[in-house]
Amino acid sequence: MPAPPAASDHRGDLAEIVVDVAAIRHNVRTLRELTGVPVIAVVKADGYGHGMVESARAARAGGATWIAVVTVQEALELRSAEYDGPLLCWLTLPGVDLGRAVEEGIDLTAYSVAELDDIAAAAEAVGRRARVQIKVDTGLHRGGAPRATWAEVFARARAGELAGSWKITGLWSHFACSDEPEHPANDRQEQAFRAALALAADNGLQPGLVHLANSAAAVLRPSARFDAVRCGIAIYGLDPAPGRTPDIGLVPAMTVRSELAMVKELAPGDAVSYGQRWTADRPTTVGLVPVGYGDGIPRHAFHEGGSAEVAVGGKRRPIRGTVCMDQFVVDLDGDRAEIGDEVVLFGPGADTPTAQDWAEACGTINYEIVTRIGGRMTRTYVDSEAPAGEEPS
Ligand SMILES: *Cc1c(COP(=O)(O)O)cnc(C)c1O
Repeated sequence: MPAPPAASDHRGDLAEIVVDVAAIRHNVRTLRELTGVPVIAVVKADGYGHGMVESARAARAGGATWIAVVTVQEALELRSAEYDGPLLCWLTLPGVDLGRAVEEGIDLTAYSVAELDDIAAAAEAVGRRARVQIKVDTGLHRGGAPRATWAEVFARARAGELAGSWKITGLWSHFACSDEPEHPANDRQEQAFRAALALAADNGLQPGLVHLANSAAAVLRPSARFDAVRCGIAIYGLDPAPGRTPDIGLVPAMTVRSELAMVKELAPGDAVSYGQRWTADRPTTVGLVPVGYGDGIPRHAFHEGGSAEVAVGGKRRPIRGTVCMDQFVVDLDGDRAEIGDEVVLFGPGADTPTAQDWAEACGTINYEIVTRIGGRMTRTYVDSEAPAGEEPS
């Protein structure tokens, strides 16, 4: 198991996001061993805030077979970064350059006959066979072909294959409730998916890659693993189903830290930040942390029901008062502290708050905490498994 990232020597930045690429490699290896099937590593939304290109590179080094993103734009960016391996995307927006995607050998996902028609035209225009996966809607009711259209979509997919427009490389769907393993929707969706597979076969399709499970289902639902698992959050080391997932040794890859920008003493009755929503009830010291909602810190990290915590001087310190655009205040409880003292917002360590702690304090999920963080922070990569003195690969 990789050790937590070593301190880097950034100074003068508001705050730093440190991503340990060894943790991503380790998590992909863990998922591969646990599931026994290839891993499709999901690096959409800038790798859930960890950096798309670097996360893809680390995931591949950890044994991921496929990389997946949402948009064609993201997929093209990965190709520009010289990633030339298997690559899937699943949301084609009107006006997008499908021809470029076909030329770059990117697997497009189609949800409808109209989309297949567009891909056929694009493939013809660039004179190359496309790679197309079909996504069926089995109950999420977001993207994917609605059940009533499966027969016509599969028939069009087969016709296009015979006409040389594309190769149907995959068939897949997505769960609505995989983080609640006992939810009846999971069985219903898996049954519907199996019906779609049968219908596709009846239409003469032999999709190379059949996949259904995201991280939570990959870990909690062996029957849904099929030919590959599509894992996002777990490759970054966060728990896909808090309270439900057994300890499989995932290691959070992201540490967010800053430094105290000011320390001051408060007297009883002194109220802090906009709205004066928190008042000291005793003499105390408070520290100013120079990041705020402009940098992705949820404003909800302080609210009437509670607050998120950070680590300063080896202790957990609660946020006190409204989180501002550029700064927030933590209660140091009368302890001595100085400008420049390290503040760890969250990370993998046992002694620091985790992204999951922040999610619970803010009434959201760990996915949102890591994905939204950024703004003016710098992102740094470390490799806790690399021999000393080597740059992260
Ligand atoms: C984001 C996403 C995933 C990854 O989900 P995790 O829960 O992060 O593993 C998989 N499939 C689809 C369609 C997604 O949108």
